[in-house]
Amino acid sequence: RTLVDSTSEPEERAMEAAMRPKNLDEFVGQHRVRNQLSLVLEASKMRGRVADHVLLSGPPGLGKTTLAMIVAAEMQAPLRISSGPAIQNAGDLAAILSSLTEGEVLFLDEIHRLSRPAEEMLYLAMEDFRVDIIVGKGAGATAIPLDLPPFTLVGATTRAGLLPGPLRDRFGFTGHLDFYAREELELVLRRSAVLMDLRVTSAGFTEIARRSRGTPRITNRLLRRVRDWALVHRKELIDAESASAALDMYEVDERGLDRLDRAVIHALCVKFGGGPVGLSTLAIAVGEETETVEEVAEPFLVREGLLGRTPRGRIATAAAWQHLGLRAPEGAPG
Ligand code: ADP
Repeated sequence: RTLVDSTSEPEERAMEAAMRPKNLDEFVGQHRVRNQLSLVLEASKMRGRVADHVLLSGPPGLGKTTLAMIVAAEMQAPLRISSGPAIQNAGDLAAILSSLTEGEVLFLDEIHRLSRPAEEMLYLAMEDFRVDIIVGKGAGATAIPLDLPPFTLVGATTRAGLLPGPLRDRFGFTGHLDFYAREELELVLRRSAVLMDLRVTSAGFTEIARRSRGTPRITNRLLRRVRDWALVHRKELIDAESASAALDMYEVDERGLDRLDRAVIHALCVKFGGGPVGLSTLAIAVGEETETVEEVAEPFLVREGLLGRTPRGRIATAAAWQHLGLRAPEGAPG
């Protein structure tokens, strides 16, 4: 399991829920998306209409679910949560859509993983607030149109490019979330520390933020691990040394790379001489699904300048060799 995985223990999930910003003002960073979204919501409130459908893209743990909750809160509308993989067929989607109330916000996580028939049903629902319920089979099948109350769809995907064009085009607003700067993660941490009643020095916050992989979910998680460490070691005030001692235990290195990140660049350098190597081969080498490597590890490694994407495959950069403490062989790419 990676550090950004959201399917963690109930206790972790409860903590995560408690740390979630409740409105746009509490939402740290992502200024562009936040301002644009704020405008979309404000305008639809003034018109007395439901908000346009919103598509949020970006790596896991950056705030997509949180923003969906905020959209519902700002519109004072109920929120329904489901996901592409949870919807097995068009019938499941029809059941959800036909039970929505007026103005309700429907959050569909991993929307790129909807089945084809469900996706096609969604087109009509998004555009005309209507679904065609198919009754019967074969030549005797008939479509019974069913009107839906106006609703707002908030779709989330790790990469907007994974969505078919016709689906993407039906969103009135698309926001891309990017990794957070260290200073922004420090703000997230300061807020969480208050909620958790923890005393942390400035340098302590910086140390945790620096190792958080640019991801608020991870920063909150690491703060909890540091809290555990401080409790056991009877530290009332968490400083940089406590933070780094605690985090060393959890396999997050000084640059924020976790086990999977390191496994990827290690395989790239050591097994494949720095590449280029195809993504699926690389995934097999680290024993992970291609999707996980592509959607979780790769975006961060690219941003950190440790991995490069070329038409012939993935390559390790000079910084990757250096990070592993290895010497790049003569003629290695990157
Ligand atoms: P995603 O849906 O993109 O995987 P989430 O919305 O579940 O990510 O966010 C994970 C956690 O990170 C949330 O519990 C929340 O506490 C925290 N978080 C995310 N974005 C922000 C932000 N901009 N400001 C403060 N906390 C945030």
